[in-house]
Amino acid sequence: MTEVIAPQTIHRVMHEIKRRRLEVLRVVELTPRMRRITLGGPELAGFVSLGTDDHVKLLFPQNAEQAAALENLVLGAGKDNGPMPEMRDYTPRRYDLETLELDIDFVLHGDGPASTWAAQAEPGQFLHIGGPRGSMIVPDIFDSYLLIGDETALPAIARRLEGLAANRRALVIVEVENGKEQQELHSAAEVNVIWVLREGGKDHLLSTVRQIKVPTGNLYTWVATESKVSRQIRRVLLDEHGLDEQLVKAVGYWKLEGSAEQ
Ligand SMILES: Cc1cc2nc3c(=O)[nH]c(=O)nc-3n(C[C@H](O)[C@H](O)[C@H](O)COP(=O)(O)OP(=O)(O)OC[C@H]3O[C@@H](n4cnc5c(N)ncnc54)[C@H](O)[C@@H]3O)c2cc1C
Repeated sequence: MTEVIAPQTIHRVMHEIKRRRLEVLRVVELTPRMRRITLGGPELAGFVSLGTDDHVKLLFPQNAEQAAALENLVLGAGKDNGPMPEMRDYTPRRYDLETLELDIDFVLHGDGPASTWAAQAEPGQFLHIGGPRGSMIVPDIFDSYLLIGDETALPAIARRLEGLAANRRALVIVEVENGKEQQELHSAAEVNVIWVLREGGKDHLLSTVRQIKVPTGNLYTWVATESKVSRQIRRVLLDEHGLDEQLVKAVGYWKLEGSAEQ
């Protein structure tokens, strides 16, 4: 058998987009504002998520017509698809093809099809998911990693940290509501975590990023938080810390209502 060796550069891999109907198997409160929902069932067979910041689309029908159309929905088929449900992006936090389980960690931020569904979810319910459509693979080829985000970024940050080798270093900056939202993060690498508490403050994440000492060595930086904040952080990283644009990925994971379009 020929061994397939993954390229040791940042690269994208595309996957077949498939819609899957999965059952809620377990619900665990990770923190007061974060719920881990384990989905599973035979339709998870063949699921693949190769990148630590991959996302799946979660489908939330808002009425009976959308719910009925779900069973025949072909993702990626364009507009002639019938009534479409609300769709939201979430990170596959962990999956296991032997037990056919997929963990998704939901921030319970308040009203919204995804957060509202997650707050009431219980075993026996079903959720349709689609994707991932593709994976951006960032192989563990860097000396150090700078990972910045809010609670929505924690699943991807945790996946990245779990995959790092022991001789790597990571500086992680995560903004959470308060001390109760801090999670344990596991890694073989040398990890320094700065928890930025949102309670009682404003613009803390941005000002913390301004003040950090950027890790030395060949550095990869990843940022995910509210869209506008993400853009501001990217500018600070490029303009004030002088990071190489090619090695900084900054994305908006959600949009504050009323904030300007990207
Ligand atoms: C690639 C990717 C991966 C993601 N992975 C995860 C993940 O693993 N776990 C996770 O929890 N989220 C994740 N997110 C973020 C999630 O998709 C958004 O927070 C999404 O808007 C939630 O949908 P909703 O239906 O609950 O709220 P929406 O209907 O989208 O929004 C309703 C209202 O809630 C506000 N809102 C939305 N999200 C937040 C928030 N986090 N905090 C405060 N206010 C908010 C909006 O501004 C709006 O006013 C990811 C996003 C992307 C792009």
